[in-house]
Amino acid sequence: MAETECAEHPSAPEAEAVDQQALDEVVRFTSDLIRIDTANAGDGTCRERPAAEYVAERLTDVGIEPVLLERTPGRTNVVARIEGADPSADALLVHGHLDVVPAEPADWQVHPFSGEVRDGVVWGRGAVDMKNMDAMMLAAVRQWARSGVRPRRDIVLAFTADEEATAADGSGFLADHHAALFEGCTEGISESGAFTFHAGGGMRIYPIAAGERGTAWLKLTARGRAGHGSKVNRDNAVSRLADAVSRIGAHDWPVRLTPTVRAALRELAALHGIDVDPERPDVDVDALLEKLGPSATLVEPTVRNSANPTMLSAGYKVNVIPGCAVAQVDGRVVPGGEAEFRTTLDALTGPHVAWDYEHGEVALEAPVDSPSFAAMRAAIERFDPDGRTVPYCMSGGTDAKQFSRLGIVGYGFSPLKLPEGFDYQALFHGVDERVPVEGLHFGVRVLDHFLRNVPGCGRPTTG
Ligand SMILES: [Zn+2]
Repeated sequence: MAETECAEHPSAPEAEAVDQQALDEVVRFTSDLIRIDTANAGDGTCRERPAAEYVAERLTDVGIEPVLLERTPGRTNVVARIEGADPSADALLVHGHLDVVPAEPADWQVHPFSGEVRDGVVWGRGAVDMKNMDAMMLAAVRQWARSGVRPRRDIVLAFTADEEATAADGSGFLADHHAALFEGCTEGISESGAFTFHAGGGMRIYPIAAGERGTAWLKLTARGRAGHGSKVNRDNAVSRLADAVSRIGAHDWPVRLTPTVRAALRELAALHGIDVDPERPDVDVDALLEKLGPSATLVEPTVRNSANPTMLSAGYKVNVIPGCAVAQVDGRVVPGGEAEFRTTLDALTGPHVAWDYEHGEVALEAPVDSPSFAAMRAAIERFDPDGRTVPYCMSGGTDAKQFSRLGIVGYGFSPLKLPEGFDYQALFHGVDERVPVEGLHFGVRVLDHFLRNVPGCGRPTTG
């Protein structure tokens, strides 16, 4: 068992639960934010400013003073600090992005930017990724302001632009140019964790993210001798590229367990009554994954590196051998797996194909024995006593990567209770993204409870 508090900073007495106004607001804010179209296609046309102004007004309303920050006009970020009661406690960052991925209305049952509330469900792009969390953050801190609640730690709220593309106008810009706004923050919480995962047999699991794989988007370039398509040519760039791409696609990456993934396997195995110790060096991870059933999807993408060829381009005429051929590969790297990833790619591409990073982002690992992690578990289990929390590692990345440059340890904690039939992973960037009102109510209750009760010391327990 992890300690839930450290000696220097005992936890605060619990305040009362969230009020009806906060419950109403979390639904209204989610719906209003969905109606503000912030689709980010990564082509520079997204404008988060109307959503940022909406958020800023909700804060200003209750006396919280936000700052609005832009690197590019219209690509607006909002940051606000709520002063905690204990100036010696570490600050905590709570961040949510304001942009969403695009949506094609013709594919949807309800218009993706309608924010319609129908039969107790809020519909639209951003309902789970992650205007719901933005709304929960606002509803919680507005209630604190109304009722005079002060959290122990300073809470820094950041509503960011551009998360769904490169973060250059969002968290990347904030980390590089506005570090002072995040002073004292040791930990951060944000998306992609603490949602209900239905594991079968009525079991509800809440995976809390304590790590992210790194991103390695690669460009492969094969060179050869250009010439007539009818002649013998052993230096064909297209063939060389195709060989390399097929070796990469077929490669079996070895299992490399990080502490977070090991903890995830151990706890999932225990929940499913499987007698396996993932600490043993000879543990057969793939066999264990098979026994975990649906729960395997929580860990399977993060037990090893991956590299998937995704784009190919070469040639301009069927009877001309081009001198060059290019491919793109989406690589993902487990924390600590970077060196092995590079040497493996060198070997797989071979001497005639060069490769380089087109875009790279670091992998992250956060301690699962920290007082904050214990407080996250406690908050969820308080409002869903039959639910079970487990740590997990995200297969992709979030703004936490950018904030990690400021020394902020990132967790995926965006609490959401979903009934059976709501598959979070399918809704995420999916068609008919939607969230039950009850789920939002659960989320704001858990978030509020966590933020008020999280111990003031953001350092992991030792000893
Ligand atoms: Zn997101």
